[in-house]
Amino acid sequence: MSTYNKMLVAIDLTEEAPQVLNKAKAICDAYGAELFLVHVVEPVGYAYGGDIPMDLTELQDQLDKAAREQLAKYGDQYGVPKSHQIVTVGRPESEIHRLVKDQGVDLVIVGSHGRKGFQLLLGSTANGVLHGTQCDVLAIRIH
Ligand code: AMP
Repeated sequence: MSTYNKMLVAIDLTEEAPQVLNKAKAICDAYGAELFLVHVVEPVGYAYGGDIPMDLTELQDQLDKAAREQLAKYGDQYGVPKSHQIVTVGRPESEIHRLVKDQGVDLVIVGSHGRKGFQLLLGSTANGVLHGTQCDVLAIRIH
């Protein structure tokens, strides 16, 4: 039976993140695997169709900085080495797919809200990750 050597846990930096991190850490320790901790900062312009006649660089830099600080706190708390604490900018699903390839990850761990009906149609990050990656995906149900 093959096992897992490199795991990637993606967190959204909300108060729900520890629910995902606690399980990811336990699973990673049980397998003796390497753990990558990732947060993807979405470009500020995205929410408005990327069409705002304003320079958003400073705001984006502030968001990146805040995300790095928060991710580092979690990383240090959960014993993830600095080299494995990753903050990138883009669409969460696409960035996670890219990192899976680049780092040779064999298990991705994400949170899932278990959406139903219309919300499900709108899609979720867990769905997006599952449908574009070659490796296994573990969805941790968020309560
Ligand atoms: P959502 O589908 O947005 O409710 O998010 C569900 C899960 O997807 C979260 O618990 C995270 O594991 C992951 N996720 C969502 N947004 C991000 C993000 N910006 N960066 C990294 N992971 C994320």
